[in-house]
Amino acid sequence: MTHRMTYCAHCGVHYAYQASGHGCLHPLNDSKYCPNCMAVIKVALDKVPKKVEKRWIPSTEYTKDQLLKLMDESDAKLDWLHEERQKGSIIAMPRLRRIGIPLIDTKTGEYQKTRYGTVNDKLYHISWWDSKPDEYEILTEVYWDLINDKMLENY
Ligand SMILES: [Zn+2]
Repeated sequence: MTHRMTYCAHCGVHYAYQASGHGCLHPLNDSKYCPNCMAVIKVALDKVPKKVEKRWIPSTEYTKDQLLKLMDESDAKLDWLHEERQKGSIIAMPRLRRIGIPLIDTKTGEYQKTRYGTVNDKLYHISWWDSKPDEYEILTEVYWDLINDKMLENY
């Protein structure tokens, strides 16, 4: 759980923004606006219908082996960036990785394997059980047009 003290972009009060951990998804927890201003913003925005949202959909573009290989190649590029950053030869953001929370089979104690990775600028999530290596699920994150109920290409 990470908290950061910051100043509200509207009213200027000093407040604690919770960047991670239980409670960080609270609708009034925001990195830019204090909870009081967020309450006003939320009431105003509740009147505006959403038009687009990010959504995870099943993907059949790659097999499990293909996707894991491509994710490894993508990670290798990030390893190189990380090493150069550590040496001080380039200025780059620290390496961040999205972490999936695996399911646990309480009968066998087996942990589900999950992995996020970006391939060709698209974010994928893959999950599988080592005891059933040929059964897996691949999802990709897309932008969804809520008015026409369809995926937006190249959004
Ligand atoms: Zn404020």
